Amino acid sequence: MNIIIGAGISGLSAGQALEGELLVLERNARPGGLSGQYQVNGFAFDYGGHYFHFQNKPAIKEHVEKFHDFRAFQRNSKIFMLDRFIPYSLQYHLAYLPAQQRHAILTEICRRKGRPAENLEEFLLANFGKQFYFLFFKPYLEKFYRRPLTGLLPGMDKGSIPVPKLEDVLAGSREKKRFSEGYNPVFIYPGQGLQKFIESYCRPLQGKINFSEKVKHIDARRKKVVTSRGTYGYDNLISTMPLKELLGMISPTPPFPRQRLKNISTLVVNAVLARRQRRFHWLYLPEKSFSFYRVGYYPVGLAVSVYLEKTVAGAGPIDKASVAREMTSTLLKTGMISKPGEILFHDLKKIPVSYVVFDRNWPRLVPAILSYLHRLDIFSIGRYGSWNYSSMADDIQLALETADHIRQK
Ligand SMILES: Cc1cc2nc3c(=O)[nH]c(=O)nc-3n(C[C@H](O)[C@H](O)[C@H](O)COP(=O)(O)OP(=O)(O)OC[C@H]3O[C@@H](n4cnc5c(N)ncnc54)[C@H](O)[C@@H]3O)c2cc1C
Repeated sequence: MNIIIGAGISGLSAGQALEGELLVLERNARPGGLSGQYQVNGFAFDYGGHYFHFQNKPAIKEHVEKFHDFRAFQRNSKIFMLDRFIPYSLQYHLAYLPAQQRHAILTEICRRKGRPAENLEEFLLANFGKQFYFLFFKPYLEKFYRRPLTGLLPGMDKGSIPVPKLEDVLAGSREKKRFSEGYNPVFIYPGQGLQKFIESYCRPLQGKINFSEKVKHIDARRKKVVTSRGTYGYDNLISTMPLKELLGMISPTPPFPRQRLKNISTLVVNAVLARRQRRFHWLYLPEKSFSFYRVGYYPVGLAVSVYLEKTVAGAGPIDKASVAREMTSTLLKTGMISKPGEILFHDLKKIPVSYVVFDRNWPRLVPAILSYLHRLDIFSIGRYGSWNYSSMADDIQLALETADHIRQK
């Protein structure tokens, strides 16, 4: 018997590819996890901006297209800073900056040495120079991570911080033109929204998913899972819950300090607007005057719905009134509304574990924990299970590979 904890995109993908007796245990009443949607007041919202990127993964693209029709969008994302909209990424669009700033940045980029860096700050300073770092990366990333970048490792972003070639920086500094660079110049989204995709993606597992059943304890010695409703024996256990939580549920207690696994929490504000006033898909907001780091339009849907994302402390209550004020002022300042009355509805969703923090403990702990669990026939996968920075496409790939490994055991 194989058991999967979680009917998110990872659990569903692994379940489709496993053979033999299978049970999926999902604490929620619906499938999808963070790759799904939730309903409130008749509106369906994603958990913040969620787009597929299948770069270098044609097989995964083909796999998901068997379940749903996807639409491709040419990314139109921007940065809002210095009271202007600048196409993303800033490093390819220096022509949009005031001349003095542009020249100072260019001078430093021309002199960059690309030396090895011990932390994220050193990496960014070495590749982009001080002027660029203090203008964009430091305020943006410190708002996002809520900690100094000297405590973070470089190179864990999987291409989300593209280091540009000098000739591209120079070309982008000469004329105001849109360059489609970075890891997601095209993004792909289910034609009828994430939930419809997840509903079809679930179909092969009909009758094998127990919804509203939360896993509470794992007895690794007897190979048993204890839930809110019963106890089940397993041969292989695939877990997609956050690794930090999984470690706290296993007996005998794994010999790792799980409190050293750090993450950030995200508050997503979803809102419905009276009309669409801007054509971009999403905006990055590096400046301190915005508490949100990103805001964007959902790509499909009947209503004009938008999301605003900010990093919040993991524990503690949210001051809903002040978040509502910040939402209104952000939408006004970015021209997404022209008066507060254009916000027809809004809702707050906190994602307690949204992004893993790659500090010095990560390489010391994560690979060792995952191999320890493998030896117990526990496979902790997915973005949060493997405690990594992965996309939905990466998660599907890892899930299919894990199922393959189990089949061949
Ligand atoms: C704000 C934000 C924006 C993102 N944007 C993108 C994007 O644009 N593109 C992209 O590719 N990825 C994006 N991601 C990442 C993407 O959401 C994840 O990679 C993906 O959803 C992970 O899927 P998963 O199945 O591994 O985990 P999850 O979606 O977290 O699923 C885990 C499932 O396990 C269940 N579960 C947990 N604990 C228990 C328990 N004890 N018992 C039973 N069930 C349990 C949960 O209810 C959940 O359904 C984004 C993430 C965030 C937070």
